[in-house]
Amino acid sequence: MPGCQEAAHYRAPRSPRTLHSYYWFCLEHVRDYNRSWDYFREMRPDQIEAYRHSVNTWHRPTWRMGVNGHARASSVRWGSDSDPFGLFDEDGNPFDQITEPQPRVDKVVAKALATLELAPLATAQDVRTRYKALAKKYHPDLNGGSKAAEERLKEINQAYSSLVAAGYA
Ligand SMILES: [Zn+2]
Repeated sequence: MPGCQEAAHYRAPRSPRTLHSYYWFCLEHVRDYNRSWDYFREMRPDQIEAYRHSVNTWHRPTWRMGVNGHARASSVRWGSDSDPFGLFDEDGNPFDQITEPQPRVDKVVAKALATLELAPLATAQDVRTRYKALAKKYHPDLNGGSKAAEERLKEINQAYSSLVAAGYA
């Protein structure tokens, strides 16, 4: 920085187009430079919005492989020691560590809820209420010893047991 007498130990990219070419600053001035860096100045407003959304929600940005080839390319070259916003991991790629959150599907629970004719988001109270109703409905005394009702009651009992075991108690 013109006029600065401090030793310049810190580097910063000269521009978004030349991320492998650096200015060297002292700590104080590299901080100033980083604060004023307009990384987004070459992006369209909708791309900036998509980027912000991707960071906020931890989703991969839709433009990653698309229109913004520049942003993709620069993220590869831009080492973490010159990353003014702390956006990138050690590989220089901001998104490799980020994965879509996977919905946690417990197949046993889902099947048991379906057996009790309940929706996937049913509560423990829903389970208890439905179990009592179905156990009564398919009780042998009320079904004249029907084999089908007996089988259904067996399924219902098994489903309820697995739900209790899974915390629906
Ligand atoms: Zn300085």
